[in-house]
Amino acid sequence: MSAVSHLECARCAKQYEAGRVYNLCACGSPLWVRYDLKRLDAARWREQLTARPPTLWRYREVLPVRDQSCITSLGEGCTPLLHARRLGEKLGMASLYLKDESLNPTGSFKARGLAVAVSMAKELGLERLAVPSAGNAGGALAAYAAQAGLAATVFMPEATPLVNRMECRLFGAEVILVPGSIKDCARALRERATSKDWFDCSTLREPYRLEGKKTMAYEVVEQLLGRVPDAMIYPTGGGTGLIGMWKAFEEMQQLGWIGERRPRMFAVQASGCAPIVRAYAQGALQAEEWLDPETIASGLRVPSAIGDFLMLRALRESRGGALAVEDGAMLAAVRELAEEEGVITSPEGGAALAALRRLLADGHLSGLETVVLFLTASGYKYVEVLDALAKSPGN
Ligand SMILES: *Cc1c(COP(=O)(O)O)cnc(C)c1O
Ligand SMILES: [Zn+2]
Repeated sequence: MSAVSHLECARCAKQYEAGRVYNLCACGSPLWVRYDLKRLDAARWREQLTARPPTLWRYREVLPVRDQSCITSLGEGCTPLLHARRLGEKLGMASLYLKDESLNPTGSFKARGLAVAVSMAKELGLERLAVPSAGNAGGALAAYAAQAGLAATVFMPEATPLVNRMECRLFGAEVILVPGSIKDCARALRERATSKDWFDCSTLREPYRLEGKKTMAYEVVEQLLGRVPDAMIYPTGGGTGLIGMWKAFEEMQQLGWIGERRPRMFAVQASGCAPIVRAYAQGALQAEEWLDPETIASGLRVPSAIGDFLMLRALRESRGGALAVEDGAMLAAVRELAEEEGVITSPEGGAALAALRRLLADGHLSGLETVVLFLTASGYKYVEVLDALAKSPGN
């Protein structure tokens, strides 16, 4: 049973009753879902966890869905945490782990957030869902909407990778191509949403995707047998995963599952679109829009994010950091992960490895630490990238 108690604004702390349809707070900021964690028998739940089916719904106590019959699931979550022995040895690390999110339905971790968002949409009686997406969010929304029997509309930049466009159409979603970036798509969606009666499922404008994505942190702790890693390296676009996992660590502390120590969180962006990295370096509380975003990592092509202040807060509170990597370094890392560890990840996953190299070289991380890299999507969806890699030197 869900222990959801209410929603709360992340900026002004205004409270909202659970079980109603919301986008943002009246002040224009994202809403957190809050739980009555004290009501839970956390120790007993933790013992039962591993006996539950291997999906993210094993954490249903800290997920917002109350009516179990509304759960829409394609088997998301409980992805492997791979011990990267060969790569670790090469980098002088004994405890390097890869959270391989490519095994989620639709091949990316967007499935986590949209499984929970679509389940909640069903519970709340919404019928038409819409999302802007430069990559994997559209396909994930379309797949879960198909299973739930809801209508989906996806606004995509014209430059969206082929497979991402095709999967949306196959799942029966309406695809609207927009010139420009995901920001232009979001604007186009908002212009039409009211007249079309579409519910806007954009990152952090919808309160439940974050809840789905936070389960990555619960899983990492479960998979490390209760240990908290020293650092996590996360390819960051809209920031749902980063903000969600930071919230999950807070919840796990309150549940008594972990102690005071939390991991250092490192955000990785592309050097052609790095608004959070720039704001972090300037000591800013919010990020300015990045003009002319350009990178092959479509999941990182997010020029401005409504959750910027929450990302920056999590990075600072965790004493982590933010760094940008070049597209070329991402591609080299994709190849390396394939050759050394047998995984074909997306450029965003490659970015995490490229960032780790820099953090080790600069002395921000040492080989003695337990580090988790998030490989956020399957490289198999990025046929354009695989094609370029196959033609490049080194083959
Ligand atoms: C969306 C996406 C990201 C960024 O995720 P956020 O949690 O929104 O920051 C990273 N990698 C891939 C493959 C994505 O699709
Ligand atoms: Zn508010």
